[in-house]
Parts: sequence; structure tokens; C-alpha cells
Amino acid sequence: MTDGAEIASRFEQTRERIARAAHDCGRNPGSIALVAVSKTFGADAILPVLEAGHRVFGENYVQETAAKWPALRERFSDVELHLIGPLQSNKARDAVALFDVIETLDRLSLAKALSKEIARAKNEGRRVPKLLVQVNTGEEAQKGGVAPADADAFIAACRDEWGLAIEGLMSIPPLDEPPSPHFAFLAEIAKRNHLPLLSMGMTADFEAAIQLGATHVRIGSAIFGTRRSD
Ligand SMILES: *Cc1c(COP(=O)(O)O)cnc(C)c1O
Repeated sequence: MTDGAEIASRFEQTRERIARAAHDCGRNPGSIALVAVSKTFGADAILPVLEAGHRVFGENYVQETAAKWPALRERFSDVELHLIGPLQSNKARDAVALFDVIETLDRLSLAKALSKEIARAKNEGRRVPKLLVQVNTGEEAQKGGVAPADADAFIAACRDEWGLAIEGLMSIPPLDEPPSPHFAFLAEIAKRNHLPLLSMGMTADFEAAIQLGATHVRIGSAIFGTRRSD
């Protein structure tokens, strides 16, 4: 296991790499949010990053988040949690309660479930998550996300049929292909749908994503080290 000081130092190095990548393409580093992906890691690994002042984290699973984060949130109330893994419709209620941003909206059945839970949360005066639509730019069978050809219609349906405020797009390019064409493609879909947020780029490819307009990069292993399992 990586110890706290090492995680804090990896976190600083990651921030520096983001700043350098931003400067290299004439962007303001402040326009790129680092989502520190803490899935599979416990509070001992997350605390050094919180103590360094960071507040934005990504998790893949509703249950793991429910077990890990409420206690950390008591100490760091301004944490911003992003759901970056697939969401089952029957977990929509928990996801709306736990997450500040849900990045993986990709089915009408899920749009319907989220619409209902978001309405309930608003009625009860609770804050509601921002929503991003996941696009499967590589059209991989094993991956979530709407097909690129369906993206415009899906975004319109989320807005018009389900009253959801969609704020951006997210994608995970295929492992075995150069990522940049996928990032450029995602940026194009976002632009024509007037969506400001672009969540793209992970440990292996975030510099390329920043060049192509990422507003959120999701970085796990560069900060926390290699995961034993996902
Ligand atoms: C795990 C995960 C990440 C982080 O991946 P790293 O390569 O460790 O940076 C980013 N995005 C998603 C959707 C993930 O599941």
C-alpha cells in the first residue's frame, strides 16, 4: 500500500502535469477540474488528498460510496462527488442522494428514474446532482454510453421528455486506440448540443484530453497508485 506522504506527493505532481498541459495549449489551468478517482481505496488513502485541500472525487459504485463517504463528508462538508461508473435504475435514489455529479446517464430508462428522484429531492429541498451523458465513442459492446449516432436525440429526449438539465458529456475511449480522435469527436457532439462540460481523459491520456477541451479529467492511478481490482 502506498503511504500518505507518497499519495500527497503524487497528487501535487498530477496537479502540476495538468497545469503544464493547460499552459502548453494556452488554456487556464483553473478551467480544468481534477476528479480524483478514489474507487477501491479507503479513507487512509483519500485523507492525504483531502488534507491537501482537494475536494472533487470520483467513484464507480453506489454501494462503495455509501460505505466510504458519509464519514469523510462529516469532516469535509464541501466535498464534490462524481459518479463515473454505470448506474442501475434501481439505485437512482441512492445516487441522487450521494452524488453531486452523475456522469453516466446513458439510457432513457435511467433518465426516467433520475427525473423522478430529482423531482423528489427538489420537493424535499435537497440539492440535486448535475448530469452528464456518457457517449460510447468507440461503440464498444462492453462499455456503457449512448451510441454517437443517437447522442443528439438522446440529449433532446432527456431535456424535453424528462425535464433533465444536461450539462455535459463524458466518454472512455477504447484502450487499444489513440484517444485523441475520440476526444475531438466528443467535443464536437458537446458543441453542437451547446453543452459546456466535457469529462474526458484519465491517467494514460489526460494531457491529450486537455488539448482537446476537457473541463474535467478523471485521474485515479497517477494519484493513488495501482488498483488491486476495480
Ligand atoms: C477508474 C476510472 C478512471 C480512472 O482511471 P485511471 O486510469 O486510474 O486514472 C477514470 N474514469 C473512469 C470512468 C474510471 O472507471
